[in-house]
Amino acid sequence: MPYYFFYDPTVLLLFAGLILGLIAQSAVNGAFRKYSAVPSSAGWTGAQAARRILDENGLQDVRIEMVSGRLSDHYDPRSKVLRLSQEVYESNSLAALGVAIHEAGHAMQHATGYGPLILRSTLVPLANIGSTLSWPIFLLGLLFSYQPLLYVGIIAFGLAVVFQLVTLPVEFNASSRAMQMLDAGGYLTPEEQVGTRKVLRAAAMTYVASALASILQLLRLFMLAGRRRD
Ligand SMILES: [Zn+2]
Repeated sequence: MPYYFFYDPTVLLLFAGLILGLIAQSAVNGAFRKYSAVPSSAGWTGAQAARRILDENGLQDVRIEMVSGRLSDHYDPRSKVLRLSQEVYESNSLAALGVAIHEAGHAMQHATGYGPLILRSTLVPLANIGSTLSWPIFLLGLLFSYQPLLYVGIIAFGLAVVFQLVTLPVEFNASSRAMQMLDAGGYLTPEEQVGTRKVLRAAAMTYVASALASILQLLRLFMLAGRRRD
């Protein structure tokens, strides 16, 4: 494989995707670190603000739990639990409020049957199967120079790409809900909202970067398949 690696120029597409991901990740870490150190003047912690917003929207049945890990915050629709990392749960920083209410935004998407979220959940098993099987199928196609297998591999990978693309509106919508709620509920002043918005925007960019990276990988599969045909 290392041999192949040096004369295969399409590997540059992989590197480009990797670099995009690293840039996005370091931007979100930087924004989170910066605005984690800035407390909001109203003083609500992430957990308190999320609890109040969930209650106000009739989501008393959604529990909030603390979870270990950094930026491990997520909403679990199956058990209706909003899991916040300790830094977000306990803190009243601009970053913590943004992340906590973004997750509450996912709970609201779930409760209101937001279309892209439903589509995304439906795609999870297909995307998992697709991303697991795409490369083995594709490599078999290359090995046996069998064109139909190459296309099956590409379609399988395409399922994972579609999943990444459907994730984008889900994430952007949760963040725009969060900003509206933080503003309407008086949790943040307009000046404070600037910092929170930067954190949420940086977080959204990590999803954009991974979607782009997977599109580049898909492009690479097309190039490899095309070269085989020549
Ligand atoms: Zn999210």
